[in-house]
Amino acid sequence: MKRLVEETFSLTAKQAAQALPVSVNHGIVEVKIADLYVQKISLASTPGNAGGIIYWFLCPGCGRKARKLYLPLDEAAFLCRKCHNLGYAAQQSRVFKRKCLAYAVNAARMQILTSTTDCLGRTEV
Ligand SMILES: [Zn+2]
Repeated sequence: MKRLVEETFSLTAKQAAQALPVSVNHGIVEVKIADLYVQKISLASTPGNAGGIIYWFLCPGCGRKARKLYLPLDEAAFLCRKCHNLGYAAQQSRVFKRKCLAYAVNAARMQILTSTTDCLGRTEV
């Protein structure tokens, strides 16, 4: 069974971005962990769809963009959910898995309903 996201300390890129100087949208933030040592984490940003800025960590483990990094109790570094192999509590239940399957089936149906076919039978997206 995976360790749970709900049982770890997490840090959002938006929180970390507050450590950046004003008008700077990327850089390296230093996170002090339990007064023992400092972890340096790269922070990037992209423009948001509705204006504003979306901040991302570049995960120190895999380099992927992540909005949140996690620090489980028995670990020494903030990494993304995949690197720490974390799962959500709700994902562990069979009911949740059934709901996911039902959602995927409905999403597939929605795709078919929203595509249109022209007079030659070609499907437009
Ligand atoms: Zn990672």
